[in-house]
Amino acid sequence: KSKVREPVFDFNEYTPRVLTTPRYTAYVKIAEGCSNRCSFCIIPKIRGPFKSRSIDSIVRETEILSSKGVKEINLISQDTTMYGADAGLRNGLSELLRKLVKINEIRWIRLLYCYPTFLNNELIKIMKNEEKICKYIDLPLQHSHNYILKAMLRQEREGEIRDLIFRIRDAIPDIAIRTAFIVGFPGETDRHFEHLLNFLKEMRFEHLGVFTYSPEEGTKAAELSNQISEDIKNKRRDIIMETQKRLSLEKNKGFIGITKDVLVEKAGGSDKFLVSGRMQTQAPEIDGVVYIEKSEVKAGDILSVKITKAMEYDLVGGVNI
Ligand code: SF4
Repeated sequence: KSKVREPVFDFNEYTPRVLTTPRYTAYVKIAEGCSNRCSFCIIPKIRGPFKSRSIDSIVRETEILSSKGVKEINLISQDTTMYGADAGLRNGLSELLRKLVKINEIRWIRLLYCYPTFLNNELIKIMKNEEKICKYIDLPLQHSHNYILKAMLRQEREGEIRDLIFRIRDAIPDIAIRTAFIVGFPGETDRHFEHLLNFLKEMRFEHLGVFTYSPEEGTKAAELSNQISEDIKNKRRDIIMETQKRLSLEKNKGFIGITKDVLVEKAGGSDKFLVSGRMQTQAPEIDGVVYIEKSEVKAGDILSVKITKAMEYDLVGGVNI
């Protein structure tokens, strides 16, 4: 008889947690595993199928975090929008969010790693109507060309992806969409790459990450014969990053003169530019920041900041008094 136990959750709300993030922001894991089958990814084999935590357990953990000073929670899993579907819930994530927004001390709730399939109108509606839910969505799309999407075993095709982006932007015009793409997937031709480049120029994502494809042992994609050279992969990545830099600067210039709430992350010290924070539309660690030209503020404060200057990824502003 095997001595290997059935996989269990790594933790629940009572497992002691060491916060690796500053005390006013925290990541909350809402599910384990993944039931998608992206051909480049080994996670489903390692972590097993998607399994949601209970709403009660997540709410309890968030209450404990909020009692320790956390103001922003970032919900994470491999497929956040699928939350609850494995337990038969139709709109599980919306249901969870309705409970989380009631926790007084929590000011911002952010959704990370949202696979497009379960991102439905119900979720878009609650994001639009609930002030505490950040006007931000992390939507890794991986590619835009149908040939590559199919080879990646992604569930959506270009038409569905476009429709989803238009629906989100129509409902929440000031939303920031972060996405991630893979370049140099086996079989990606110049034509496929051009398609991706034109797609991101058209969609003008607020934040974008690009990765060169790297074969993962045990995945279907690693066995494909038409692998791309590292040289081409790197060139394609650089072209996308250069393009995004320009688009990001143009977007950031649109903030000049506008006042936004900023969660202060770094404060103190003699250098006034050591004070920085993030808007609702900037996630911790991966997006840009707002440098604040005033040092008498505390980390964890949420302040009204008027943006005065834009850079490629970061902004500069002053506290509105
Ligand atoms: S890339 Fe993400 S959605 Fe796809 S199989 Fe891996 S973990 Fe799941």
